[in-house]
Amino acid sequence: MSDQKPARANEAVVDLRPATDAQLRFIGVIRTPWVTRDLCPRQGAEDGPECRLVLDPVWQPALAGLEDYERIEVLYWLDRSRRDLVTQSPKGDGKTLGTFALRSPVRPNPIGTSVVRLVGIEGAEVIVRGLDCLDGTPLLDIKPERGSFTPKAPPKPGVA
Ligand code: SAM
Repeated sequence: MSDQKPARANEAVVDLRPATDAQLRFIGVIRTPWVTRDLCPRQGAEDGPECRLVLDPVWQPALAGLEDYERIEVLYWLDRSRRDLVTQSPKGDGKTLGTFALRSPVRPNPIGTSVVRLVGIEGAEVIVRGLDCLDGTPLLDIKPERGSFTPKAPPKPGVA
């Protein structure tokens, strides 16, 4: 559900073809203190407030081992974004940049990602600091932060 604002001067809008279904599955919802975009940080900070990733209980076993990581990567669906801008004017001053040169929530597939600090796990809820999304944002995925992750699968032959 997007609450679309009109495009700004010089921003380019495209007619989108019907979406092909990627069959994304929301695994839960994110609880944050922010109920309006004006109050929501543009990028999260590790000294920001605690937020909760509230998983559908069916996914609780999928958290096993996550407690070993100080930092995790969270992917979420910025569900209140428009999706049809190819250029954007972040400052509203008429100067534009391409959507793929920005981390704006307005993009064809409004996926947000943040590396956050893991504060704790309580059942099917993961407590983190460092998010920047509105309360109620759908949760897509959780992964260990890339830099602190060692692949668990056997090495592949011929790959350095
Ligand atoms: N850290 C993520 C990234 O870089 O992929 C998201 C950055 S994006 C600039 C964060 C902004 O998205 C917030 O300041 C807010 O204005 C907007 N936003 C947050 N939650 C949203 C939601 N559920 N739907 C649409 N916009 C949202």
